[in-house]
Amino acid sequence: MAKSKLPKQAEDFPGWYVEVVKQAGMAEHGPAKGSMIIKPHGYAVWEHTQRALDDRFKATGHENFYFPLLIPMHLLEKEADHIEGFAPEVAVVTHGGGQELDEPLAIRPTSETVIWNTYSRWIQSYRDLPLLYNQWCNVLRWEMRTRLFLRTSEFLWQEGHTAHATEQEAVEETLRMLEVYREVSEDVLAIPVLSGRKSANERFPGAVETYTIEGLMRDRKALQCGTSHFLGQNFAKAYDVTFLNADGHQEHAWATSWGFSARMVGATIMTHGDDNGLRLPPAVAPVQVVIVPIYKTDDERDAVLGVATRMRDELAGGHNVRVRLDDRDQHRPGFKFSEWELKGVPLRLEIGPRDVAGDQVVVADRVGGTKKQLSTGEAIASMREMLDGVQRALFDEAVSFRDANTRDISSYDEFVEGVEAEGGFWRGVWCGDAECETTISDKTKATIRLLPIETEDPGAACMHCGKPGTERATWARAY
Ligand SMILES: [Zn+2]
Repeated sequence: MAKSKLPKQAEDFPGWYVEVVKQAGMAEHGPAKGSMIIKPHGYAVWEHTQRALDDRFKATGHENFYFPLLIPMHLLEKEADHIEGFAPEVAVVTHGGGQELDEPLAIRPTSETVIWNTYSRWIQSYRDLPLLYNQWCNVLRWEMRTRLFLRTSEFLWQEGHTAHATEQEAVEETLRMLEVYREVSEDVLAIPVLSGRKSANERFPGAVETYTIEGLMRDRKALQCGTSHFLGQNFAKAYDVTFLNADGHQEHAWATSWGFSARMVGATIMTHGDDNGLRLPPAVAPVQVVIVPIYKTDDERDAVLGVATRMRDELAGGHNVRVRLDDRDQHRPGFKFSEWELKGVPLRLEIGPRDVAGDQVVVADRVGGTKKQLSTGEAIASMREMLDGVQRALFDEAVSFRDANTRDISSYDEFVEGVEAEGGFWRGVWCGDAECETTISDKTKATIRLLPIETEDPGAACMHCGKPGTERATWARAY
């Protein structure tokens, strides 16, 4: 497949994103409006992300379960704030088997309702608590303006739903899972994030507090990367989930929910990609090392492929590297170089006849842009270390970029002009008033991405209205 040139990020970031997602074989639009077909190269990044999350869920004591896609409407409507928040996005099945249904069925936009309805049977006594469960599934939220991975009607995610005997336990759980999300974003996807709390305007419908991790993409727009909600007793009250506590009294259970979705594949593309295509962190790269053999004659081909095959087997076997030998005869090496560059493979090994004679190989680094010659033995022995180096380099580069684009607001006017001209994160004092927040958002198209996890008195006046400040808010334009 011939590739056309990618638009330059600096000139047309949205155009770059659309083209790189398409040309690198990550995803494409589905036939129904708002839907997405995830292609193998994109799905594999999600699989590695899933595994990293799931291992950590299990390590923190959680188990997976699975709830139905369809939710009877009356269940969805029980928690008032929740349904008010989700109503505009819910798709409803009204017909089945050629007949109108007695009761319409909602396609889950999230599963708190059906899960808490069920928890009312599962939870009777303090001895039944905590329940630490998670499900991997798809959800549907009606969307007219789609952007592959970032905003589609149907998307893949996990949703954790836990129940606890005390408020303190539930709050601790909410923050523990936020920390798991931070760790996976930073250590696995190499995306640096800020952790914090949402303002009331930005809170999950039905939550007491919503905590978030937020990343900064290369176009200087923020992206919400994962949220963890402390739901208080709201869902327990709506679905009548009570338990007998240790003192013999009936109490409502305390709830959390937390979600991390396949939009993070999009975040990975937009945090690390450059004008030549993707740059994938080795931890989630479907192919970590590609070997490109270089030859002209049949004799050269035999010799080069002999060495290349041996290297592939050693890297895949003893060293547990995800390696691909690109032995396609119908493409020239130059074509293969740019294709694997576009697909973001972290390291490329080039082997030609002269390399075979000298028992050496050229290692090209997608992130650093460097090439070096190593003996084949040395290359194999140091491959894991080199991959770790790429992982670190991507993270360090993203941290520098984020920090260079994070500013403290010295005046409201500076913020209004600055966020328009430069994007990025802007930290300033806010009075805590939702109307003031909305006024600022309407003016700047920026939203409060997060507040500190613990409220601290900023000791200054609100940057906009001059009333006493209650919070130091971080603002940005966001996806
Ligand atoms: Zn204010």
